[in-house]
Amino acid sequence: MTDLIKLRGVQKYYGDYHALRDINLTIRAGEFFSLLGPSGCGKTTLLRVIAGFEGVSNGSVMISDKDMKDVPPNQRPTNMVFQSYAIFPHLTVAENVAFGLRKSKMSKAEKADAVAEALKMVGLDGYGKRAAHALSGGQRQRVALARALILKPKVLLLDEPLSALDKKMREHMQVELIRLQRAVGITFILVTHDQEEALVMSDRIAVMFAGEIGQMDDPETLYRRPKSRRVAEFIGKMNFLPATVTSVGESIGLDIAGFGQTDVPQDQAPEGAKPGEAAIGIRPETLAILFEGETASRHEAPATVDEVVYYGDMTYYDVRVKDVPEPLTIAMKNLIGRPVLEVGAQTRIAWDERAIVVF
Ligand code: ATP
Repeated sequence: MTDLIKLRGVQKYYGDYHALRDINLTIRAGEFFSLLGPSGCGKTTLLRVIAGFEGVSNGSVMISDKDMKDVPPNQRPTNMVFQSYAIFPHLTVAENVAFGLRKSKMSKAEKADAVAEALKMVGLDGYGKRAAHALSGGQRQRVALARALILKPKVLLLDEPLSALDKKMREHMQVELIRLQRAVGITFILVTHDQEEALVMSDRIAVMFAGEIGQMDDPETLYRRPKSRRVAEFIGKMNFLPATVTSVGESIGLDIAGFGQTDVPQDQAPEGAKPGEAAIGIRPETLAILFEGETASRHEAPATVDEVVYYGDMTYYDVRVKDVPEPLTIAMKNLIGRPVLEVGAQTRIAWDERAIVVF
């Protein structure tokens, strides 16, 4: 994939407020890229900087190797789909989509063809004559997408496009959006505060905190190898245990509170890790309760059940392990024949050093 968008040293001040601090990133052509982070971290600001609705205080935005400094939004190869659908309720679906072409010099017939094509793309074939106000939330979102796509932008910018939809419709539209993006092959940049949405949809994700990028990686690397506790906590759940790094070399020697000694490969620890105090992280689904007659394939530790949360398909246990200051959360699938333990039950847990991340 070729590089399409390059941001170098981008900073943005609103008065004294430093909303973006030294943002560097490259987005490739055809990529589904997400900006993920808590409310107020600067995701929308960054999207608006790419679109040209906001200028930068410092640094540069390049699209297709062209500096965008003096290029207004309507002359950039980008188009934005907003959080509020911003469709006109008193117009028909087709009129709403054609609004995207209001400045185009196409003939009437060409416009009608383009509208039909865009509606087909978003699965609203034959909906052109309907009144926009009579559509469901998901359908309105599709109209907004069709209106943005009709201009054939190189980059579609999506600011929390699914946040107004209920959970079922949101999950449905996530899959639709991925399909659409693959079908049209244009670059999508999605702003979301929903980590699951970002993991499901993206080729790569930039996780932002307070105007900075904390980590930028593909979903699996972000989840399995978070580079900081902040990122680990924002994406999924993670247990943290105090540990001591006892040796560094080909592998990293660890002494973990409650778990004891183990070695992990270098790529599970930060670059340049040194002997001394540290912490390790381990995800709830990589720990396991050992039921009657089961043995751990790697390591085990005795534990007491502190809390049980039953979700139907899963049970989340909080367990206490001697010498571990905080209870550990364990996610267990409710397989056939597997009992749900009660609070106070004495049990054993299995852990695997391959799932450990050193911080
Ligand atoms: P959310 O998910 O809540 O939309 P966000 O990560 O998109 O958050 P931004 O909208 O980019 O965050 O805002 C980042 C920070 O900049 C916030 O603290 C916000 O209050 C501030 N900010 C945004 N726009 C302006 C503006 N026009 N003038 C002053 N401050 C602004």
